[in-house]
Amino acid sequence: MSTEDEQAKDDQASRPKGIKIDLSHTLDSAEEVDLSLEEIKERLAQAQSFYNRVSTLSEIALQIDAARSQEDVMQVLRSEAKWLIDHDVCFISLLNKSRTHYLINTLSPIADATELNHKHFLVNQGMSGWVIQNQSPIFLDVTAGPVFTESIEGTLADLGMKSLLIVPLRTGDETIGCFTMSSARPGAYQEREMWIAQLLAQQVAVALKNVALFDSAKKRITQIELVNEIAEKLTSTLELEELLKAAAETIRKNFNYFDVTIFLVDRGQDVVTLVAHSGKYVDFLPPGYCQKLSEGIVGWVASHGQKVLANDVSEDPRYMAFEYHSTKSELAIPIQIEDEIVGVLNIEDTKLHAFDETDTIVLETLCDQLGSATKNAKLYDQAKKANATLTELDKMKSDFLGIVSHDFRSPLASIILAAKALLKRGDAVDKGRMNEYLTVIVDQANKLSHLAEDTLSITKMESGQLTYFFKVVNVERLIKDAASLVHFSRRHTLEYHVDNSVSYIKGDQTKLRQVVQNLLSNAVKYSPKGGLISVKAENYSHDQLLISVRDGGIGIPSEQQERLFQKFSRIDTEEARDIKGSGLGLWISKEIVKAHGGRIWVESEPGKGSVFSFTLRKAQQEPSAS
Ligand code: ADP
Repeated sequence: MSTEDEQAKDDQASRPKGIKIDLSHTLDSAEEVDLSLEEIKERLAQAQSFYNRVSTLSEIALQIDAARSQEDVMQVLRSEAKWLIDHDVCFISLLNKSRTHYLINTLSPIADATELNHKHFLVNQGMSGWVIQNQSPIFLDVTAGPVFTESIEGTLADLGMKSLLIVPLRTGDETIGCFTMSSARPGAYQEREMWIAQLLAQQVAVALKNVALFDSAKKRITQIELVNEIAEKLTSTLELEELLKAAAETIRKNFNYFDVTIFLVDRGQDVVTLVAHSGKYVDFLPPGYCQKLSEGIVGWVASHGQKVLANDVSEDPRYMAFEYHSTKSELAIPIQIEDEIVGVLNIEDTKLHAFDETDTIVLETLCDQLGSATKNAKLYDQAKKANATLTELDKMKSDFLGIVSHDFRSPLASIILAAKALLKRGDAVDKGRMNEYLTVIVDQANKLSHLAEDTLSITKMESGQLTYFFKVVNVERLIKDAASLVHFSRRHTLEYHVDNSVSYIKGDQTKLRQVVQNLLSNAVKYSPKGGLISVKAENYSHDQLLISVRDGGIGIPSEQQERLFQKFSRIDTEEARDIKGSGLGLWISKEIVKAHGGRIWVESEPGKGSVFSFTLRKAQQEPSAS
């Protein structure tokens, strides 16, 4: 038997009326007292209640230990904490990663009914902030704290709360938030409650830390799996738009983001264009929406090539607010092909601090893959376009060969016929008939020579061997000369007008005549019903004049107008199909006008007619009399 035991035995023996007990586990300090029976009962009741609390605590601890998510922990507190410490209001405040704000999660029906749930507060606001910053527990009157914040303590006071108990949530040296309870009873919390709350808070903090670690490990694994899945999807298509749309959709769905957009950079226009969108803002921002490179977080990322993680956009001056937006967090990452920034992946959320480093790392990896997928798609697109051009060119060339061989053959046939007739009949042919035959021969030979010239021009123009002889040219004479070479039918009327201010130009007379002649021949050819053909030369700008040829012919559908000036290009309409041509005249005209520093274009409406116009530089001076 120990000396202490012996001592206790002695003491008990010397006190027949009172019982000597050690209440050190129920009292703040061990004490030895003489107690009446009533006092003993009360002390025993206290001991019983203390025991009950400890066993409740160990039960709660077991449940918390079994929790697998933050929600599980919250649920245990919601249903069990009231058995441990009496309260009317209960909530937990959790610090964000950057430790600037804390987020409140309410855990009792009265607290749920306030505005406090899921609200962020700055860490220097409210008594919760004070406890987090000072890392020490506190119990006090609701209105008596060193920091009174209207939206927290004010709310509690309005609810009729009188006492407040807040303990920090600590794991090791780190405080991750605090646990708050409030009661309508004045003085409801004392040292004892604080002590028990601290024990609970310790369990909660460890559990929250563990589930956070577990969650982030789980999130990382799921994200890596998803990245692989998305990467596979990206390689399954080579159509750029389809690919980016699929990427936006998959990223949003798999990562459960609020809104995902993908922009492509257009440096020529100095803008970023929205090409893919998936999420809650889709109706407000349809594909095709453009934003300047100098605007918004997306514009900044596109021009600087660095990511932006704005977990509170109101504090980022680059953020561009939209009326319909309730965005609070934005994460934008550049998409690059080698060193060139080709696009931006942009994620938005209505929660503050919605994104963390894991999101950034994972999305950066995805953007790398998007970059290579975009590159492949672009290469594919170029190859496809080149292929289409080659196919079209090939078709045009074979069309051209068909037309040219026909065009060569038919005048040749006429010439041969006329010549044979002359040979056969010899002197028997009268003069009038002879003239007719000879005219056929000359006209058809001219046609052949024109065709041969056009064909030759292509080769020369393509190899840059065409030589231009520039001199001052009289515009009116140019138009008249060109018109004299065109075969007008009786159904057509020609009218021309030359402004006094544009009498002279500097250029290659023969080639410019060929342009006007081409346009006039087309005006005749493509207005088979006849009508007025008018040529105008007028002022266009201080140093340029405009020559235009108007007809009231078959016209050209707008979607085919752009390709008219390409080599071998012909219009594919019912009316145009029957009219013979090589598809070269306008291409040659464009090349000649271009060599003169001008521009050629068409305005036309099917069934109403066309106006072909081109600009030329004015001559600075009129030529001398010679
Ligand atoms: P083509 O020898 O076929 O006339 P062009 O290069 O001169 O070749 O013209 C290209 C095509 O543009 C023509 O095939 C025709 O379809 C269309 N075109 C040119 N001028 C006119 C016009 N004045 N009205 C309607 N279509 C025209």
